[in-house]
Amino acid sequence: MSKTNESLMKRRTAAVPRGVGQIHPIFAASAKNAMVTDVEGREFLDFAGGIAVLNTGHLHPTIIGAVQEQLTKLTHTCFQVLAYEPYVEVCEQINARVPGDFEKKTLLVTTGSEAVENALKIARAATGRTGVIAFTGAYHGRTLMTLGLTGKMVPYSAGLGLLPGGIFRAQFPCAPHGVSTDDAIASIERIFKNDAEPCDIAAIIIEPVQGEGGFYVAPKAFMQRLRALCDQHGILLIADEVQTGAGRTGTFFAMEQMGVAADLTTFAKSIAGGFPLAGVCGKAEYMDAIAPGGLGGTYAGNPLACVAALAVMKVFEEEKLLERCQAVGERLVTGLKAIQAKHKVIGEVRALGAMIALELFEDGDLHKPNAALVGQIVARARDKGLILLSCGTYGNVLRVLVPITAEDEVLDRGLALIAECFDELA
Ligand code: PMP
Repeated sequence: MSKTNESLMKRRTAAVPRGVGQIHPIFAASAKNAMVTDVEGREFLDFAGGIAVLNTGHLHPTIIGAVQEQLTKLTHTCFQVLAYEPYVEVCEQINARVPGDFEKKTLLVTTGSEAVENALKIARAATGRTGVIAFTGAYHGRTLMTLGLTGKMVPYSAGLGLLPGGIFRAQFPCAPHGVSTDDAIASIERIFKNDAEPCDIAAIIIEPVQGEGGFYVAPKAFMQRLRALCDQHGILLIADEVQTGAGRTGTFFAMEQMGVAADLTTFAKSIAGGFPLAGVCGKAEYMDAIAPGGLGGTYAGNPLACVAALAVMKVFEEEKLLERCQAVGERLVTGLKAIQAKHKVIGEVRALGAMIALELFEDGDLHKPNAALVGQIVARARDKGLILLSCGTYGNVLRVLVPITAEDEVLDRGLALIAECFDELA
């Protein structure tokens, strides 16, 4: 009997805890570049990219070819037991790509949360301090420490009680919600006055463009003042580039556009085109602060994921994907602004490269986030064959994370479907 989405959802509901949410009631069967086919044979345009993992699209032939070749050679030794060259080569290439005019080293792990956990461990060891400052609306993961950094209770940490201590929250500068760069810096100064001395803070962690929080771009001037504040107090600056990295924003890392370098950078998601790889890159002296044996993991830097990452970086060069990223961003922003011109519910269209969002407000009033309409549009778009995601502290942001390798025709079809949804629902 052929399988249906409904029959599989029944099995899923019985076998998988409800805490593992599911945005679309669809079971994927196969995919190619920006298209996904479900178990019933229906095709969808994928504007979600597995949440920012598929900048190079589904099943890119160069990446799949590299993994297939590696499959015939070696799939696991555990790097701490027997090393292998692709791990070292990924680290060399990341060291060269991460901004910062200093010697760097890179650690590989498996998930974004694990990368953030390790960045915090390294910052603690390097500074001898334990405090950390994170921002409102931040998302850094679902493990216990990263949940503490993540600035959203529901659905991530509600019901879990108090999270690890030593985490202080500053305001993320966010013009649409009335938080200026000055306000954001003042909120850090307030932490130093009210909560913790700077000499107890190991690190400030920030997403250069907030991902789950709503695709807000940190102003360059803010990043520069943050850097100066960190230098003044001996605090490490951690850039969490898990969502922004691997070419999403028009540069390989978003910090390249900020005019200052972080001490530690976390990356994951699109770096290995769908294979599980993440890591921390940073100043060599900080990265070496932890003694041998203190970093690593059984699967960390798996050989298949490493060759996939090398192939991703090769594809970026061969296909000039950073240039393509800008073109994709411009095409989509132009199309979305045309939709905005007809619908005042769209308060803002914003983008850095191809990291693009629409923020919806009732009657265009910035005090009334419109999450209900976002939910309706995500569902209607799916019915029309377009997979979209929402985000934002208030759930009122639609985000686009389409593969950068998507053809113009696919981008235009997606835009047309989004326009139809607004015409029908807004
Ligand atoms: N940091 C950021 C900025 C993220 O966007 C995410 C995932 N959405 C994470 C960390 C956590 O990554 P993972 O889900 O791979 O643990």
